[in-house]
Amino acid sequence: MSDFLNTSVEFIKGVGPAKAKLLNSELAIFTYRDLLEYYPFRYEDRTKFYKISELSPDLPNVQFIATLVNMQTIGFGRKVRLVAVAKDDTGRIELVWFKGVSWMAKKLQPGVKYVVFGKVTKFGSKLNITHPELEPVTEGNTGKGTLRPVYPTTEKLKAKFFDSKAIARAIETIIKAAIPHIQDSIPAEIIHRLSLMPKAEAVFHIHFPQSSQTLEKARFRLKFEELFYIQVQLLSIKSGRVKRFKGKVFDDTALLTKFYKDQLPFELTNAQKRVIKEIYGNMKSGVQMNRLLQGDVGSGKTIVAFICMLIAIGGGAQSALMAPTEILAQQHYEGLKPFAKSMGLQIAKLTGSTKASERKKLHLALETGVLHILVGTHALLEDKVQFKELGLAVVDEQHRFGVAQRSKLWSKNKDVFPHVLVMTATPIPRTLAMTLYGDLDVSVIDELPTGRKPIKTIHYYESKRLKVNGFIKQQVELGRQVYIVYPLVEESEKLDLKAVTEGYENMRRSFPEYHISIVHGRAKSADKAFEMERFVKGETQIMVATTVIEVGVDVPNASVMIIENAERFGLAQLHQLRGRVGRGGEQSYCILMSDVKLSSDARTRINTMVRTNNGFEIADTDLKLRGPGDLMGTQQSGVLDLKIADLAKDQAILQLARDVAFDLLATDEELLMPAHQPLKLKMQEIKQSSENWSMIS
Ligand code: ADP
Ligand code: MG
Repeated sequence: MSDFLNTSVEFIKGVGPAKAKLLNSELAIFTYRDLLEYYPFRYEDRTKFYKISELSPDLPNVQFIATLVNMQTIGFGRKVRLVAVAKDDTGRIELVWFKGVSWMAKKLQPGVKYVVFGKVTKFGSKLNITHPELEPVTEGNTGKGTLRPVYPTTEKLKAKFFDSKAIARAIETIIKAAIPHIQDSIPAEIIHRLSLMPKAEAVFHIHFPQSSQTLEKARFRLKFEELFYIQVQLLSIKSGRVKRFKGKVFDDTALLTKFYKDQLPFELTNAQKRVIKEIYGNMKSGVQMNRLLQGDVGSGKTIVAFICMLIAIGGGAQSALMAPTEILAQQHYEGLKPFAKSMGLQIAKLTGSTKASERKKLHLALETGVLHILVGTHALLEDKVQFKELGLAVVDEQHRFGVAQRSKLWSKNKDVFPHVLVMTATPIPRTLAMTLYGDLDVSVIDELPTGRKPIKTIHYYESKRLKVNGFIKQQVELGRQVYIVYPLVEESEKLDLKAVTEGYENMRRSFPEYHISIVHGRAKSADKAFEMERFVKGETQIMVATTVIEVGVDVPNASVMIIENAERFGLAQLHQLRGRVGRGGEQSYCILMSDVKLSSDARTRINTMVRTNNGFEIADTDLKLRGPGDLMGTQQSGVLDLKIADLAKDQAILQLARDVAFDLLATDEELLMPAHQPLKLKMQEIKQSSENWSMIS
């Protein structure tokens, strides 16, 4: 590490202790290094100089060189303004200031040549520029012309006159001296092969690009570098784990074959078959599996999980499935039970509400190995729950569980670790998966079972309420069931409750002849389960609920999902909710009810839902709308705190970074080669500065 780059910004000429303090607290800039890594978010094009005769209101901001020939303060009091005439050899134009009049009047000098920068407007029949920026002509600002950096700042900094320009000036002050201290940690061979701009050059050009070409190269280099370091880190974690964690070898497929031959209720989709093969590849390898299984709602992850459980059970071990809620655990249990029964396997459920007496029996059955499959909530993680031998742990809907919980499941076996399969129905864009789960293997079920009719999605405003009620009636008369979902109002559980209960009362008034269920977060879990149960059994026709039903609930007879205040839901959630219908053979519908007034983001979300059923397309739009930091499940991860790369836009660079990192580690896994020492050092530095990393595994 270079001492020079660790110098405090306080010592930069023009900064000083007071401003340095502000830079610390406002922008987390402490050292020269921090300042150099504070990148512009856009650039002003100062490459072209206009002539006054060329100026027109149709142009964006323009710059030209002119002499001030006349300056006048006109009017007084609140109406005072400063008017100056700028002149070059082609013409004249008026410059006008309404603010800071006396200050400008003192600063500007007639007869002096300035670089004028601003937006030309038409005022009556004349052109003028209000509040232009003026700089006396110097060699620096008239040479070839440049792209000028614009830095993000804060109100507090601006109030202390530390604006974008001041930041640029501070950087300019140190950059020449800093350049020799900037080391390149990317191996020379890679720089050469990819024709990357060297690091020091890239740092210079990101701040002071000489042309749009050099800017592009600098950007590419810095984005690549940022993503490359992350991938090296993730892939090292992964290969480190492969070495450290042995997994039990499960290569006996007799039980599996029996299931395929005698019990499989339907033909598996090709995607399901491929994924099972990938998982089996891990389970027989002797290395612990850590695999993420992504599959859109309804893609058939449950049967895949069961089949993998059979692989473990066939090898004499047990399997567990952990779900995020009691309702889901119950559903998985119900779903797996018939399969287990048909194979003569013992299955049980353990949740927070399991009675103590039952627990005792359960613990015993687990410890003796009598019980083959345990389904439950995070109650499975309690220390008392000990398996005779846990071979496979399946974790459903990963974003509901903390990472710490995931690793806790491993420690149930002492020296050989259970294989871990994390299933998620939240499609994650590839770039995000590569970053967020870059240390896991990833399988994707990208195909729905055949015979499904795509869900029809319709958007209605409140004015169509009667029509919607008519539609509900028609569907119920056909024997179908209907969900009506209300948003969770985060700020107020009370308001939630009010919306749902009012919705419920309205339904009761509109449909006195139907049975209607209500489920919300405030209800006791026994009541929730009871109401869900009635709906599942078809005893109620309409289910009014908050988003508690979002994940996994499977009622094939339900054909209509009505989402109230759809504008308040995120895309991922809308898509999850829609996935609750369309599970049977009937045509299903999703109706998005909204206010007439919609923000542009809300409109995009709703239009996206109406346009497509493809979860990955939806996830991509979501990523573009919200940025990675706000996507479900990413909050606790510091990995997404990127300085320059953008996961929504830089997919190609990310893929390249991952491939290059992969190849590098394939030849020198521990980064032992002399040429890789700077990189190794850099990785250690990053590791030390981000505690989060160890949490990811
Ligand atoms: P999810 O991936 O959302 O968990 P499920 O596993 O609940 O999906 O499957 C949804 C429905 O599709 C279930 O009723 C399941 O039995 C059925 N299913 C799964 N795979 C197939 C298949 N290959 N062919 C036909 N139906 C299937
Ligand atoms: Mg499921």
